[in-house]
Amino acid sequence: MANVVLKDICKSYDNGFNAVKNVNIDIEDKEFVVLVGPSGCGKSTTLRMIAGLEDISSGELHIGDKLVNDVDPKDRDIAMVFQNYALYPHLTVYDNMAFALKLRKLPKDEIDKKVKEAARILDLEKLLERKPKALSGGQRQRVALGRAIVRNPKVFLMDEPLSNLDAKLRTSMRTEITKLHQQLGTTFIYVTHDQVEAMTMADRIVVMKDGLVQQIATPQDIYDTPANKFVAGFMGAPQMNFIDVKLVEKDGEIHAINDHVNIALNKGECQAIISGGYIGKEVTLGIRPEDIHIEDVFIDNSTDSTFEATVEISELMGAEIYAYLKLGEDTVTARFDGRYRIKLGDKLKLAMDKHRIHIFDKETTLAVR
Ligand code: ATP
Repeated sequence: MANVVLKDICKSYDNGFNAVKNVNIDIEDKEFVVLVGPSGCGKSTTLRMIAGLEDISSGELHIGDKLVNDVDPKDRDIAMVFQNYALYPHLTVYDNMAFALKLRKLPKDEIDKKVKEAARILDLEKLLERKPKALSGGQRQRVALGRAIVRNPKVFLMDEPLSNLDAKLRTSMRTEITKLHQQLGTTFIYVTHDQVEAMTMADRIVVMKDGLVQQIATPQDIYDTPANKFVAGFMGAPQMNFIDVKLVEKDGEIHAINDHVNIALNKGECQAIISGGYIGKEVTLGIRPEDIHIEDVFIDNSTDSTFEATVEISELMGAEIYAYLKLGEDTVTARFDGRYRIKLGDKLKLAMDKHRIHIFDKETTLAVR
């Protein structure tokens, strides 16, 4: 079993800075968990504490049900892959992968078997005699993965392993790492600031900010039901739109209104708004760009979710078009089908998908709905 449990983990650096604050994460055996967040949120520090490269200031770290706070990194049964590969330039691919096993004084034929098996999994068989300088970035990253695989660890830790690769290679390595996880059936803990990597690779995502966990959930739940405004804005590109509105009750319905919008929310979906006492209060309405539609092509349209906005900028991305729209003082982003033709200055009649509207408390920023 290689479950990893972080219980009230804190990290204060010597200068008194609290980089990680009371983090609780329960990672299951064979799970692929991605820690994601902006620069400085404490995700690398958390990973380095799991690896044993950084002392834990307080809290408990369990790997496979064993308390490992004071266990040496080499005895934790983990392998770590870094963003800069850290390959030995003077050694061949074979010797780079065999290095840790030779240190452990494993028999030669056993080393050979493990290296060749890893090379087969990673499609490195034809490159075993090359030195790192004769490899592409993607191949070097595969060697770094190979070095981790041969050690047969219970847990793989990866810190931004793809950030030195170009966009195309990143996409293909993303798929390779996901496949590798399925093939090896091992626990993976992966750190990135890239929300696309988190969304596409993770079984569960841990979103962090300022040393605190903001939400732990599946990619789908993080996207559909973000716990607060930060998570809502961080996950998804272009990011969710936020509009200041007031919630009022009118003719038995709940409306989100300001000078430019008047959206009737489905009352059946408003229990938390009512019980939380949000009627009559200012809140933040969140709506993702893909949930804003051109009114006359929106099949689910009902006239009480419509509004008008003027096109300020439009960017054709191929299959899609991003439209930046002026709505009073706000700029709202919408994402339309690329075949739709819009021009600068067009006044568009739009509709929000009412079922996809998020409401956040203005002070706590927590999701109310
Ligand atoms: P990035 O994506 O930029 O690597 P991160 O989320 O991984 O960011 P960490 O590297 O974990 O962030 O750093 C968290 C915070 O702790 C940062 O504010 C950083 O400046 C601080 N920090 C990191 N290492 C030390 C240290 N040795 N001493 C003091 N502060 C540190």
